Amino acid sequence: MNRTEDTPPPRPPAERPVPKAVIRGERRLLGIAVSAGIAIGPVFGAVEAVAEVERRKIQASDSGAEAARLDAAITQSRKQLQKLKARLGVLPESSQAEIAPLLDAYYQMLAPAARLPRGCRRRISETLVSAETAVLDETETLAEAIMAAGSDDDRAGRRRRAEEVREIGRRLVRNLTRTPFRSFAALPAGAVVVSEGLRPADAALLDPARVGGVATDEGGADGHTAIMLRALGVPAVLGVPGLSQAARPGDTIVVDGGSGEVVVNPGPNTLATARRNVLAFARERQKLARLRRLPSVTEDGCPIELQANLEIPAELPLIAQCGATGIGLLRSEFMFMNRETIPDEDAQAETYRSVVEAMHGDPVTIRVLDWGGEKDIEALQSAGVVPEAADTNPALGLRGIRLLLRETGLFEVQLAAILRAASAGPVRVLLPMVTNVAEVRTAREIYDRVARRLRRRGERLPEALPPLGIMIETPGAALSADALALEADFFAIGTNDLAMYTLAVDRGETEVASLYDPLHPAVLRLVQFATEAALRMRMPVSVCGEMAANPALTRMLIGLGLRSFSMNASALPRVKQAVRGLTIEDCTRFARRVMDMSDAAEIRETILGPPKA
Ligand code: PEP
Ligand code: MG
Repeated sequence: MNRTEDTPPPRPPAERPVPKAVIRGERRLLGIAVSAGIAIGPVFGAVEAVAEVERRKIQASDSGAEAARLDAAITQSRKQLQKLKARLGVLPESSQAEIAPLLDAYYQMLAPAARLPRGCRRRISETLVSAETAVLDETETLAEAIMAAGSDDDRAGRRRRAEEVREIGRRLVRNLTRTPFRSFAALPAGAVVVSEGLRPADAALLDPARVGGVATDEGGADGHTAIMLRALGVPAVLGVPGLSQAARPGDTIVVDGGSGEVVVNPGPNTLATARRNVLAFARERQKLARLRRLPSVTEDGCPIELQANLEIPAELPLIAQCGATGIGLLRSEFMFMNRETIPDEDAQAETYRSVVEAMHGDPVTIRVLDWGGEKDIEALQSAGVVPEAADTNPALGLRGIRLLLRETGLFEVQLAAILRAASAGPVRVLLPMVTNVAEVRTAREIYDRVARRLRRRGERLPEALPPLGIMIETPGAALSADALALEADFFAIGTNDLAMYTLAVDRGETEVASLYDPLHPAVLRLVQFATEAALRMRMPVSVCGEMAANPALTRMLIGLGLRSFSMNASALPRVKQAVRGLTIEDCTRFARRVMDMSDAAEIRETILGPPKA
């Protein structure tokens, strides 16, 4: 149904306004394909978290801190608006002309001397209310004033302006509260979540049985949100410029997570094609499922270990179905997400134990907490373990092992919980974000100390402690791999961060997504160097970054000497299919050819074939 401006559809109060002149016909947009599958469903706008905010009084002595929180939220909101505007350039001019003025209006409303920020500051200092309360009250007062002024002729315009004020208020509150989006409970079955951006913690709340798909303005191919969506098997396209302004709740949308195309209000032909594609995808899945019981060996009989990555326990059934022979990377961050307290040793031990038991004797590699970068973890902030405001550059800050070696209490609790779970089956412990030998030595001292303490406490631990390995995901670690191989028990190569840190390109950032290239020769050389260092020491080495999940790369990675890969469960059958068609000799020859190349584009074409027009 085409809607007209004269008959606006009824909308719940928390929806975002849509620019007046948006044409409601079919609209095709292109983004980054991050999770295969096709979704057809109504748009569900995942933007409002305001309803959960409680109006709150504060002490006079806290008003300075509240005003500072408000200012930080204003700065963040303005940055977001600038970013959205900068990305409109790729849209057709007519769309830019519709959306840009609206973003400008929002931006102006947040200018430091504008009425809204001034009013909010006054409320904080004079009526002693929290920043959120001040924003909610001030935006409502402003919106009511807009509605009360002027003639009846301009009622529609005034209603729109009032809604704009409320929308900017909602953005401020979202940034103030940093609350994950929790209203997925209201998501109609099969609906497609559309938003500006989605944090990994928000993605973790999605129920893959209910959500049809996800499409967002922001995000990159190998960011943690993308990884989470792939893990859940939810069709998704991220980094679609202008999407959240072009699609309104209730519109029909098609999301093709394989091609990266998103169609808002598809016409009958587009819908018919999309439905055919849904069926074709399901048939392909069924075909791949038959590979489950076949062994993962090359054509010439070399076994290749294929394990699964686990982001949240909800994936366990998928892992059981995909034929994985263990969990090569359990990202333990999920236990700390979407909660305000840190889980204690018993709670953690219980969770690890249930995963280990579910794997029925197959090994589970548990990575200790990798906080930092784009992963916001409320529990650590609420507990004061990490500051509220992130570092200037969180990816280069107190991330992974650095945080754990500073907060040794947190580290010890997690190690103790993992060691306790080791009595349920084979376990390995993995350290994230290592850059030097000293970190591994210190971590091992702590590990041994925790084990001694547990034994004194009467816990039954395996005689030989579970292996303690490290992620090779920084250029520093890759280039010191020979020295690190003397300290660690195994390597897990994290190509996502390795590409990010080597190329100085944020993996979750849409603006530089085209520069994020794990096939850049610099990244491949680091993978090769680290792999060879491990092989010389006869030490286990695997790849658990997203490269491992791409069957087109399997030939080259095996050619570099790798025999173990860990990936999202849904990718595993395709990789197994690739493995079974390869011979070691061909892989080795192919990798040699690739490693002689210095041009990223040539490498890409050699491995993936010519770019699509
Ligand atoms: C990686 O960096 O490649 C990796 C596997 O770790 P994460 O994606 O969790 O940062
Ligand atoms: Mg990493």
